[in-house]
Amino acid sequence: MSARILVVDDVPANVKLLEARLSAEYFDVMTAANGTEALAISRRAECDIILLDVMMPDMDGFEVCRRLKTDPATHHIPVVMVTALDSPADRNRGLEAGADDFLTKPVSDVVLIARVRSLTRLKMMTDELRMRAITSLEIGMQAPERSAIADSGKGGRILLVDDRQSSYERLATILAAEHTIDVEPNPTEALFHAAEGNYDLLIVSLDLNNFDGLRLCSQARSLERTRHVPILAIADPENSTRLLRGLEIGVNDYLLRPIDKTELLARARTQIRRRRYTDHLRDNVQNSIEMAITDALTGLHNRRYMESHLATLAEQAATRGKPLALMILDIDYFKSINDNYGHDAGDDVLREFAVRVRKSIRGIDLACRYGGEEFVIVMPETDLHVAGMVAERLRRSIAGEPFAIHKGAKRIEVTISIGLTTLERKGEAVADVLKRADTALYRAKHDGRNRVVSHAA
Ligand code: GH3
Ligand code: MG
Ligand code: MG
Repeated sequence: MSARILVVDDVPANVKLLEARLSAEYFDVMTAANGTEALAISRRAECDIILLDVMMPDMDGFEVCRRLKTDPATHHIPVVMVTALDSPADRNRGLEAGADDFLTKPVSDVVLIARVRSLTRLKMMTDELRMRAITSLEIGMQAPERSAIADSGKGGRILLVDDRQSSYERLATILAAEHTIDVEPNPTEALFHAAEGNYDLLIVSLDLNNFDGLRLCSQARSLERTRHVPILAIADPENSTRLLRGLEIGVNDYLLRPIDKTELLARARTQIRRRRYTDHLRDNVQNSIEMAITDALTGLHNRRYMESHLATLAEQAATRGKPLALMILDIDYFKSINDNYGHDAGDDVLREFAVRVRKSIRGIDLACRYGGEEFVIVMPETDLHVAGMVAERLRRSIAGEPFAIHKGAKRIEVTISIGLTTLERKGEAVADVLKRADTALYRAKHDGRNRVVSHAA
């Protein structure tokens, strides 16, 4: 996993030092000597993680970080502030500016590499989601960046796993100011609790009695329902080496005791904001997959999906020796519905038609809008005789009940014609099956419409 790390520092010696250490671990290192340069490189999407010096002339690190985190093009890039100052006030200023972490000069090698590795993993995952979500942007969905930047990170649901009463009471009180918080003092119950609770953040103490908190973190990472929930670990200073191990197994952030109130709140907000952003990206990917295979007007599958899936269904039927039926349905004189009542009325008819189709078929049947007012239904494990009965039932469900148009102010008669056929033999081209159904449909139209015609294979 090679990531590109941007090192920003106005002192060349500091840049050289970090560059050498990171290169030794096979990271690609880029450098910038000031904030303006750093912003330009980040905007060109050339780096995965930014190590940012705080004290720089012109624009200080806090300001650079604030700009990075409010720009949709760069807000998702993890930023680690590197500073000689280590007062809680400075740390909190950085966290408020949106920094993902803080490293204090002189920077410990082990901590540096563990941090950078863990943030790299996070960045790779976010990139993957962003890339897929770009498709949904192209088809006009909301950019998740906008809401992510506006998100305060407050109002999250947090599960705190800690068995020391004095500790969890204090932490819960602090966190309750901004979030809903549940405490689980029993670590053996914690995983179950986490999986059930739909949390935005898990906070896990690594100083539990007779229980390895890291084991819990690793289990949470492998369980489907908690895999994407961020984990913030908390440990006594003497347990700090275990924190580094934690970062390796997927802990997202940590805090050492005694815990500073403002820092705890800031780190919790950062994790929750990130969690919401990636969730949003994931939803977008899901939506764009659905939109790519669905017809927007009727909610049925679209032609593209049908054509690719039909081949699979035909193959399955052939190898299992089962029949497969296919029908093409076409609304009769649909053009005159548009002409007489308007295009919107035509749309109403198409929508209601789809509702009735869905009611008449089984879950395993595949219904799609094939063209304007033409539909295809594929029925696995169905022979011509049974398919003929289904088609007839469908025809009656359309002709038997008038369609409401103009918001229910008017009802009109609609009929359909159906051409029906089955898969003829193993390996038959799907196009030939469709063609046969189309020929049957043509005959149904020719013979007077509002009827079903079967074309035996
Ligand atoms: P036939 O009985 O021979 O099938 O006649 P028809 O009028 O139904 O068939 P034709 O193919 O001549 O006309 C289909 C019409 O469907 C033409 C087109 O404008 C209309 N149409 C296609 N897509 C849509 C749509 O999404 N909404 C509406 N309202 N009309 C559509
Ligand atoms: Mg028609
Ligand atoms: Mg037509």
